[in-house]
Order: sequence, then C-alpha cells, then structure tokens
Amino acid sequence: MAETALMPAAFVGHGSPTNALEDNRYTRSWAELGAGLPRPRAILVISAHWYIHATAVTAMPRPRTIHDFFGFSQELFDVDYPAPGAPELAAEVAEIVKPTWVGADLDSWGIDHGTWSVLTHMFPAADVPVVQLAINAMKPLEYHVELGAALAPLRAQGVLVLGSGNVVHNLAGLDRNHPEDGFDWARRFDDEARALMLDDPGRLAELAGSRDWDAAVPTADHFLPLAYLAGLGAAAGTGAGTLVDGYQYGSLSMTSYTLGATGS
Ligand code: ZN
Repeated sequence: MAETALMPAAFVGHGSPTNALEDNRYTRSWAELGAGLPRPRAILVISAHWYIHATAVTAMPRPRTIHDFFGFSQELFDVDYPAPGAPELAAEVAEIVKPTWVGADLDSWGIDHGTWSVLTHMFPAADVPVVQLAINAMKPLEYHVELGAALAPLRAQGVLVLGSGNVVHNLAGLDRNHPEDGFDWARRFDDEARALMLDDPGRLAELAGSRDWDAAVPTADHFLPLAYLAGLGAAAGTGAGTLVDGYQYGSLSMTSYTLGATGS
C-alpha cells in the first residue's frame, strides 16, 4: 500500500520552446502523463534553464512566467503560466536535503520555459503550485544524482518531482534537414543512457565515460535534470520506464522517463 501512495516522478525531454504551442506525439505524451497522475500537492521542477552558480529554490508566492529565449514568435512570448508558488515546499526542500545548502530565491527567477513549455500540456489549468530547483553548475554529476535521491521523501508527500531537459542536446550540431532523426552518435548515447535509467539509474554518472559524452553533452545544463530522476530511482531501488522517445534535428533526443507511473 505504501508503495502505491508514492507520487510518480518524471524527466521530460522538452526540445524547442515551440513545443509549448504544438500538438505532437511528445506533447501528447506529457498531457497523458499529467492526466493519469494523482493530483500533486505541488510540482518541484529541475529545469535546464535555471543553471546557476548556486543550489536554490524559488520561494516566491507568485512566480512570474519567464520568456528566456529570443527569435521566436510573439505568440510564444505571450504565453503565461500563472501557477502559484509554494513557499512552504521551498522551505521543506531546504530542510530535507541538509546538510546540502539550498538558498531561497525570492525575486530573481520564476517559471522558465523549460518548465512551462511542458506544464502547459501536463497541467493546462496551471492550478498546481510550482517550485523550481536551480541546477548548480559548479557541482559534479554525482552531486546532482545524490541531491535527487535526497528529494525522495517528497514523493510520499504528494509532490511531483519533474526534471526538464534533453538527454542529448547539441545546438551547434542541429541539422534542419533531419527534423525527425538522430545522428548515429546521438542514438548511441541515448541508448546507453536508457540502459542505465531502466536497469540501474544510480549508475548514471558512468555515462561521463562514454565516447559520445562530449558530442551529446557539450554543456551539462540539459543533461543534469535527468540526474535527479536517476537519484530518485536509486533511492527507490527501481528503474525508470520510457514515456516517449525520439530525435529531432539530428542532435536532440526527446526521450522522457517516468518513475512509478503506470507502465513503468
Ligand atoms: Zn531547453
């Protein structure tokens, strides 16, 4: 019984900000995941787009919607995701991960597009409170896996922990001629990541030794949200399940994972 009371957790490959406005097989999988979950008390999101030199959580009661991109349509800049914050969850996160230090951000961040491009599909009513946890760019991969594991008690308290990034994310390598395809190295790396996530997510850091690491993860920002789900999987002693997979423009993987959701 206790097991079924655990809130599932997930990692979503978010791809382009335009997914916020699109209806495709990725966005439909996010919508189906949201509709199938027990209603969360709050959502704690680890977004690739809050990658800073500190470990911090948003602690404001009314986080603003941040349009942290340029060169996209006005329609995308007009997206508002007015979910409330959850200052009490921010405090709880700081408490449960001790002795790791977590700062409280009251006025610099909010809800960025790594979060709202997914949540507009997953929770379109924007009525579940949202807190973001920053990714500390100064820390090694192992730190993020361990911090993810330390968040495990939140699952028993109705909190949905959601990583949002991309397992393979090489913007310099994007090839517009291959909108629905992945290069060989991207597929190889994504497959390696999947083998670990499904069988033994606590070993995720071994991927840093992959021959395709430098091509797939030229910067760690989009990869690291996966480390939080890996840590949660390790803490639960279970592997993840694949929610959806695929590639875009050769050098992006859209693979998403769930933990403890139906079918995983
Ligand atoms: Zn992104």
